[in-house]
Amino acid sequence: MPTERQLTVDQACAEIAKLHISRRITSIFIHHCWEPTASQFHGISTVAGVRRYHQKKWRRHNENGYHIMIGPSGEVFFCCPFEKKGAHAKGHNSHSIGVSYIADFGGPPGEKHHDGRSSPTDNPDSYTGLAAGQLVVAALCERFNLAADDVRFHNEVSNKTCPGTLMDLREYQEAVQRFMDGNIKFVLLTGDERPDFVIATSEHEEELEELFDGDDHIVLDAYNHIPDQRKIYLRQP
Ligand SMILES: [Zn+2]
Repeated sequence: MPTERQLTVDQACAEIAKLHISRRITSIFIHHCWEPTASQFHGISTVAGVRRYHQKKWRRHNENGYHIMIGPSGEVFFCCPFEKKGAHAKGHNSHSIGVSYIADFGGPPGEKHHDGRSSPTDNPDSYTGLAAGQLVVAALCERFNLAADDVRFHNEVSNKTCPGTLMDLREYQEAVQRFMDGNIKFVLLTGDERPDFVIATSEHEEELEELFDGDDHIVLDAYNHIPDQRKIYLRQP
C-alpha cells in the first residue's frame, strides 16, 4: 500500500514537531538516491517508484527504505512511517531516521548511470532542495533533542559514497545548526513535567493558533514563548 505523501517544508516541519513515536531516535542519516537523479524526478510517482524498488529488494521491510525523500525543488515526501524502522543504514536503522535527496551528488569514481551519463549529475551547490532538506532535518533534531552532530552521512557507516562525493558533512551540519538557531523549539511535556514557564500573552495565542491551524490532536495546556529562547511547550491531551 502506498504510504508516500507530499508536503511543503512548512507542513513537514509542523508535523514533525507533533510526532509521537515509541522508537528512540539518536541520529538522522542523510542519503542521496544516486538513481533517480534530479532530472529523472517526476513528482510523487518517482517516490512511488523508489518504494516499489525497495519493496522488491527488501520483501520483509515491504516499504520505502527511507522515511523522508526530498525533491530537487524542495518537495518533501514522507515515506516509510516514522514509527517503523527504515532500511537505509545497515546496523543503524533501529534508532535513526533516513532522509534521502533525489539526486546524484557523486557515486563511486567511474560509475555510470543506466542512460550512460557519468556520475555526478547533480551539484549540491545548485540543488534548490538542499536547504529544504536541511530545514526538515533541523525540525527532526528539535523534535528528538538531537544536536547537529547527530546528523550523519551514510558513508560514515558504510563503504558507499552516499550522500555523494560532493557533499561535505561539516558544512551540512553547520547549515542544520543555523536552521535550528532560527527555529522555534517545540518541547513536548510528558506526565506531570513542569517547566519554568510563563503563560503566553493573547498575542502569542494568536500565533499559536496559526501554527496549529485546525489541529485538535494536541491541547496547548501550558506553553511559553520567550522571544530569546523561542520555545513553545506543548502538552498532550
Ligand atoms: Zn545512503
